[in-house]
Amino acid sequence: MDNSEVSARLYKMAEMLEFQGENPFKIRAYIKAARNIKNLDEDVNKIFERGELEDIPGVGKAIAGKVEEMLKTGTFEAYERLNIQIPVDVGKLMEVPEIGPRTLQLLYQHLGVESLEDLKEAAEAHRIRRLPRMGAKQEERILNALKSLDERSKLNRIPIGRALPIAEEIQNTLDANPHIQNVVAAGSIRRRKDNVGDIDFIATSTNQKNAIYAFTHMEKVQEILGEGTTKGSIIYDGNIQVDLRIVNEESFGSLLQHFTGSKEHNIRLRDIALSRGLRLSEYGFTDQNTGNLHPCRTEEEVYRTLGLDFIPPELREDRGEVEAALSVNMPHLITIDDIKGDLHVHSNWSDGKNTILEMAEAARGLGYSYIAICDHSKSRAIAGGLSEKRLIEHVSEIETINEEFDDFRVLSGVECDIKANASLDYSSDILEGLDLVIAAIHSGFNEDRKTLTKRMVSAIENEHVDIIAHPTGRLLGERDAYELDMNAVLQTARDNNKVLEINAFPERLDLNDINARSAKEMCISLAINTDAHHTSHYKYMSFGVDVARRAWLEPDDVVNTLELDKLCKLLGIEKH
Ligand SMILES: [Zn+2]
Ligand SMILES: [Zn+2]
Repeated sequence: MDNSEVSARLYKMAEMLEFQGENPFKIRAYIKAARNIKNLDEDVNKIFERGELEDIPGVGKAIAGKVEEMLKTGTFEAYERLNIQIPVDVGKLMEVPEIGPRTLQLLYQHLGVESLEDLKEAAEAHRIRRLPRMGAKQEERILNALKSLDERSKLNRIPIGRALPIAEEIQNTLDANPHIQNVVAAGSIRRRKDNVGDIDFIATSTNQKNAIYAFTHMEKVQEILGEGTTKGSIIYDGNIQVDLRIVNEESFGSLLQHFTGSKEHNIRLRDIALSRGLRLSEYGFTDQNTGNLHPCRTEEEVYRTLGLDFIPPELREDRGEVEAALSVNMPHLITIDDIKGDLHVHSNWSDGKNTILEMAEAARGLGYSYIAICDHSKSRAIAGGLSEKRLIEHVSEIETINEEFDDFRVLSGVECDIKANASLDYSSDILEGLDLVIAAIHSGFNEDRKTLTKRMVSAIENEHVDIIAHPTGRLLGERDAYELDMNAVLQTARDNNKVLEINAFPERLDLNDINARSAKEMCISLAINTDAHHTSHYKYMSFGVDVARRAWLEPDDVVNTLELDKLCKLLGIEKH
């Protein structure tokens, strides 16, 4: 167990004692010990090895005994005994501001409330107001508290599109400092999750004190939360918590692996280590017979020691990657260099900011071989949707522009609205004249699941449609995915040989990793498109590739890794 795990268990013990109405001095002793262990600069295991646990402030003989038990066995008896006695999820429930230990006792004894879900159910069914000392007002306060707790846990997550540029900015600042080396943002940002909690850097340093000082005194630091000899913790511009941990070069690989996570992935690795007589921690492997610690300089060494192929960070979620690495069957994940073009970009013919020619030249400058201009269709008047007449003019302008290139092609496309009645926004003869039709839902998100699924399914079945854009309509931090029977959508796409989009626009990332992986498993092709409304948006392609990697996609799964002639063949596009 590491410092934070030991500390968390002591906190939980204190909460359970409080629930039981134990002596306040005893409770306070646990809280104090938990806090001090959490704030230690040194690994508690090392302090234990030196026999100095009782030197930690607030850790007396009794608690030192419990910490020792935890470090040896992963838990302690008093905790396990209490945990069995109390079926209630005390920790989670006490996070609700209205709930103290006495109220929790009451709710448990009278209504059998054991979890947050139970609490919500009881409050919604108006069972709480009838309890002694409670009432309708108190019940409403609990409901509101539950709601804001839920929102806060959502709010505390930062979309990757916002977090990554900040991480890169900090990385550049740290990289420029002569005292700091090997800077890496670990945690969920390294795994490229679509939203992250806070940003965890690790690095090595030739002058630790200086390195931490430089970190906590960067220009955009709003608040210093902690400033130790090996760890600094700050609130950065934009209200984001960022931590920097300075580590030894000898154990850099072990620490990077540990702090990259996920927790679930690391649990699997720990089990494999145990089966080999090793204990895996953030500091390295400990031989269970000899007690010798073997730190790893690189992550590769961590995986090699376990007999595993290297696992890319994006896959570390315990979703089958450990099995794949054991059987030497890792996917060859797609990279940004595999992308040959972008099949969903806008121009100033609808709501884009640049001309078709500017969009083409910028894409060609990136080394792409093609783009598809897919401006909005006529129903989306608000986004400058094109009338039939304008659409035809638009196609002929594209033809003219194509005469200028011999190594690049602009495909004429459209982002065609799927209307409320499930029909498309243009007639068949109009759609037939285009190289590429992508269809999307932009309105009526509040319809029921059946209606939305039907709209989507009939669009996929339409013979003119090639790609479904941003299939679930979510906007990160703003709007959840609309109700959709994803299974029906995937099956229809497979049966009709249609392509689904991973929209790389950072607010969308839609399909997400889970759905994109289901698509791959059903042999459905995907396209990774930026939905660029400006030449500067082409850079978002990397966010889409990150989602694709988390979905285990290989180049062959993605249509815009194809050379132009193969793409045209696949999508039935005429050569000019
Ligand atoms: Zn759209
Ligand atoms: Zn679009």
